[in-house]
Amino acid sequence: MSGVLIVVFDGLQPSQVRRGLMPHLSAFAAEGVTFSNHHSVFPSVTRTNASSMVTGRNPGGHGLAANRLMVRDFNHLETIPAMEPELAQVKEATGRALLAPTLADILARHGREYIAIGVGTSGNAFLHNPNPENRGGATLHPEFTLPRYLHSRILERFGPWPKETRPNTPRMAHAVRILTEYILPERRPEVALIWSSEPDKSQHDAGVGTAESDQAVREADSEFGRIIRWLETSDGFEDTNVMVVSDHGYSTILATVDIEAAVRQAGFPGPNVAGGVAVAGNGGSALFYTNGSDAGTAGDVAEWLMSQPWCGPVIVSDAAGPLPGGLPARRVGCEGPRVPEVIASLRSNPSINPSGYQGYVFSTGGTPGQGQHGSMSRQELHNVLFARGPSFQQRCIVEVPSGNIDLAPTVLSLLGLNSGMTPFDGRVLSEALAGGPSPDHVDWGREIYNAERELRGQVYRQQVHVSMVGETVYVDEGSSTLGRR
Ligand SMILES: [Zn+2]
Repeated sequence: MSGVLIVVFDGLQPSQVRRGLMPHLSAFAAEGVTFSNHHSVFPSVTRTNASSMVTGRNPGGHGLAANRLMVRDFNHLETIPAMEPELAQVKEATGRALLAPTLADILARHGREYIAIGVGTSGNAFLHNPNPENRGGATLHPEFTLPRYLHSRILERFGPWPKETRPNTPRMAHAVRILTEYILPERRPEVALIWSSEPDKSQHDAGVGTAESDQAVREADSEFGRIIRWLETSDGFEDTNVMVVSDHGYSTILATVDIEAAVRQAGFPGPNVAGGVAVAGNGGSALFYTNGSDAGTAGDVAEWLMSQPWCGPVIVSDAAGPLPGGLPARRVGCEGPRVPEVIASLRSNPSINPSGYQGYVFSTGGTPGQGQHGSMSRQELHNVLFARGPSFQQRCIVEVPSGNIDLAPTVLSLLGLNSGMTPFDGRVLSEALAGGPSPDHVDWGREIYNAERELRGQVYRQQVHVSMVGETVYVDEGSSTLGRR
């Protein structure tokens, strides 16, 4: 293969990449570039970040606001899960599952292919390339493939997919086999991506740093080792640039909030009546869609949220107008045609869990002690990126901020392709490229946004930190307090 191979470890944190736990990835990282200040987009959920990776856009730009969301131009009364059947319906009804072109779309214009294989959710796999049928490229997943005709061919050749397990290693091993026996040697796409659903699934179930989640990390690392060994023993490894990334970091659940029940108890009716609200819980965050995008209702929701002990930063769309205490969605990359009126990050804190991992968060699901993400906490918004190959510098650590939104522009740059008219929120990570500028010479800065609101004797305050490199903005963390003036 000569091109780019992207390997994704769902939910892997920087602190997990150490020799004792992940020998293969640690060795890979030591030889290449470590991006030590890498960022997820907010909300720090999987499918939103998968969409940002392949479009180079923030959530406002690609429109996949969260794992559970309302797509108003599809259905303005109900939220939907971002799974393959629903997303296929969105595409059918509106013409677009995502509002921005993906890497696959851009490559197709150049007559090149993007092939993704993943063992996470069907929605995640679908979002990698919602338009493969008429543009080339392919997406492979245990439940479906695009183009559809490929599914039976893959089953005939490689046998049935193993059942989903914890850790999900048998499925991942099957995917690695398809990658190394079919996708890379036979299809030879310009860009291939493989998505490991671990350690995410095991961390959700068993908690971050438990024996079960460590086992998932080790086994995912072993599968990565098999991919690297295959590359090393096949022709053309010298031509392949390999990027390893995770979609988001992780926290431990402090307490759960039944967000739907809480909204109704607060007196907000359902979304089909005036003054009504639809709510979409997303673990560490929650999205609120008001009936008719009503600014008055959005203001009431925001005020109610700010007085809740579990509520962190409150983000408001342009449609909701400037709201005291709220932070405009455009500051954190969320403003766009499919943005909810209000997004709440649930409150987080930096305490250390029993296994030594930092970060606790309130959650709309799960149980205390389990793992979670989706919020604006530092631990969830910071994830991993490593790169190695002929186009990258060797044995270096880059502290310049980077993010999942930089993947698509950087991949196109590696291939020497232009993006045409496609605008990106991300940038080319040129400071990591051989012959690029020294990371020490890249100008970057930080900004802090503060907002506060008085609420019947109490004051809600939120603070959101961002980093900037040129025009590109990365959300570092957001927090809030509720206290006396
Ligand atoms: Zn994930």
